[in-house]
Amino acid sequence: MVDTIGIIGAGQMGNGIAHVCALAGLSVILTDVSMEQAEKGLSVIKGNMERQASKGKITDAELSAALSRISLSDNLSAHTASDLVIEAAVENESIKTAIFKDLCPHLKANALIASNTSSISITRLAASTDRPDRFMGVHFMNPVPIMKLVELIPGIATSDETFEKFAAFTAKLDKTTAVSEDFPAFIVNRILMPMINEGIYTLYEGVGSVDAIDNAMMLGANHPMGPLTLADFIGLDTCLSIMQVLYDGLADSKYRPCPLLVKYVEAGWLGRKTGRGFYDYGGDIPVPTR
Ligand code: NAD
Repeated sequence: MVDTIGIIGAGQMGNGIAHVCALAGLSVILTDVSMEQAEKGLSVIKGNMERQASKGKITDAELSAALSRISLSDNLSAHTASDLVIEAAVENESIKTAIFKDLCPHLKANALIASNTSSISITRLAASTDRPDRFMGVHFMNPVPIMKLVELIPGIATSDETFEKFAAFTAKLDKTTAVSEDFPAFIVNRILMPMINEGIYTLYEGVGSVDAIDNAMMLGANHPMGPLTLADFIGLDTCLSIMQVLYDGLADSKYRPCPLLVKYVEAGWLGRKTGRGFYDYGGDIPVPTR
């Protein structure tokens, strides 16, 4: 029985997962590297729930009950009470495996672990834990409260029982699932990220401006947002990490990350979360930076 969910990383994905779990009636333990980061995540959740309440999507009573179900910590030992832990820290394999190494001694023997990784091998992450059979990829989409899909990615050692428990958990959150085999970037990002990377090449080679590229794909391909807007929304560090996983994992030069993407990440221009990426978010409306 899954009642208490642990979430590691209170960034845009971790706080979104905490948001939907708390509204679904589950107790949530949200941890990050510092209390400041965890509190920042909680204040984003509060703001997002208040927006949902102002639109009549949830009641004020549901909002305050959900918030009261979330507790914060800066220590992985807080997860001793968790029935299921979802890791949603940065897209970096060595950080994730270090987290699992620290986490496992604190967990109940039958606790399940998931990673929200966008691209990294679930089988390899599972092998860094003491319970590969109770480990799975559970890939939520951004923004979590709005996006319906969750990719379920069993690793080679994931047991059928674990798969069924995660399927029941995502059903409780009212999400729709797509099952993916454990290959680099799974389904959504295997298709989406090369398209975004090609959008960045199109800018890099001067084929079009930021506005032209985004408008072309919105109005010409009926995408709800252009590839450069979407890249800023996802986070350029995350986009680069996913391209690197595709490039290394599939050993095909068609996945090489665009040098302009690398340069933006090196500059610390990571998109919306740092206020600057392909657009500058300092004013009322985003302004192209090239
Ligand atoms: P983010 O940068 O918004 O947040 C990452 C959080 O992890 C930060 O709060 C950071 O302080 C925390 N963190 C870093 N090291 C940590 C550690 N050792 N222990 C605990 N917390 C730590 O990133 P995000 O966009 O939320 O991405 C998180 C994960 O979700 C990544 O694996 C990413 O690939 C995946 N993901 C991202 C998206 C997206 O659109 N951004 C979509 C689906 C999945």
